[in-house]
Amino acid sequence: FLPHLVASMVEVEESYIMIKPDGVQRGLVGEIISRFEKKGIKLKGLKLYQCPTELAQDNEHYKDLQSKSFFPNLIDYITSGPVVCMAWEGVGVVASARKLIGATNPLNAEPGTIRGDLAVQTGRNVVHGSDSPENGNREIALWFKEGEVVEWTPVQEPWLKE
Ligand code: UDP
Ligand code: MG
Repeated sequence: FLPHLVASMVEVEESYIMIKPDGVQRGLVGEIISRFEKKGIKLKGLKLYQCPTELAQDNEHYKDLQSKSFFPNLIDYITSGPVVCMAWEGVGVVASARKLIGATNPLNAEPGTIRGDLAVQTGRNVVHGSDSPENGNREIALWFKEGEVVEWTPVQEPWLKE
């Protein structure tokens, strides 16, 4: 396979990226947003949000993890302070955002990734990123209300896509 052919098969996707309460408390909001912004993907939604406990528990967001032993801790963590909710769009953005974020356990995350550079523990890994295009759409719909996600055309687009 020629790499440019494979790349052209990847579609425009949306990823839900969230700076977790530790990222906000540690003053890493600008640093984290800047990594996605510099990559050249498109920001479509952005807000600071205090997630209520009931919403975090019932929220479909961590549905797959409800049976895990760390689930109660995860809910405490995610509701312990404000989070920054973001919607990002781009070709292959789901996988590329996960690469920028790095491995779940920051000790296994490569240097240069957000978790590799900025975190030390799985339970304080500063950022969330959707794991599939389906979950990207689903999570953006969960965390954002009607009208909070904006469609727009960045002026730099012709300089990012040939
Ligand atoms: N998590 C945890 N302990 C674990 C595994 C996960 O506290 O053993 C938390 C951690 O904050 C992680 C989140 O649960 O980011 C979601 O887990 P997932 O496996 O989906 O990792 P991610 O997609 O965030 O890399
Ligand atoms: Mg996940």
